[in-house]
Amino acid sequence: ELTYTNKYIPLSREELIEKLNNALTQSRFEHVLRVEQMAIELAKKNEVDAEKASVAGLCHDYAKQRPDDDFIQLIKKYRLDDLLLQYGNAIWHGEVGYLMVQNELGVTDIDILNSIKHHTTGATYMSKLEQIVYMADYIEMGRDFPGVEEAREITFNNLADGVAYQTKHTLQYLISANKPIYPKTIDTYNEWVNGSN
Ligand code: GDP
Ligand code: FE
Ligand code: FE
Ligand code: FE
Repeated sequence: ELTYTNKYIPLSREELIEKLNNALTQSRFEHVLRVEQMAIELAKKNEVDAEKASVAGLCHDYAKQRPDDDFIQLIKKYRLDDLLLQYGNAIWHGEVGYLMVQNELGVTDIDILNSIKHHTTGATYMSKLEQIVYMADYIEMGRDFPGVEEAREITFNNLADGVAYQTKHTLQYLISANKPIYPKTIDTYNEWVNGSN
């Protein structure tokens, strides 16, 4: 386990864990610990700072259990895109939730904040850390959907290929379930999966 240097968050890892334990259900708390471990493994493989990956992995779902009203207030306060109001927690906990990580946990590192912002939908540009958090969330050792083993193998061979795999499969799932597609999800698909641009 890492001892934090406070370069990325003004808390010890133990203090952060305590805050997450209070903010999340037990199963969600255990998920973020597994995402942290997977993010650290992917960081080592891809020459990204392990402490940065730890903070990002632990904080990525910080806002997951917040009431809708908390997000709606922030969307208005920060004059975020009104389109967000047509979606719900699935999109808000990252796209808006990163502001809660910044305001409430004191994270200032823009790469970490972007990795939280983009962890659900991806984005056309994703730094190595953003790709790592996006993938660690998908392939952490508690996930057991059909194809997860293949996703792990692809991601450990090549991080960007993992991003393409997840993006394609998530979009297929959303369409098959008649879910509304957030435009950024389509932008991610066009950039990372459709090779013609
Ligand atoms: P989790 O927070 O660890 O459960 O995982 P994610 O943050 O990656 O995803 C949260 C939910 O958002 C999942 O159920 C995804 O299928 C869903 N999701 C991802 N992209 C979209 C989208 O474009 N539209 C909608 N409606 N849901 C999405
Ligand atoms: Fe999430
Ligand atoms: Fe995800
Ligand atoms: Fe998650």
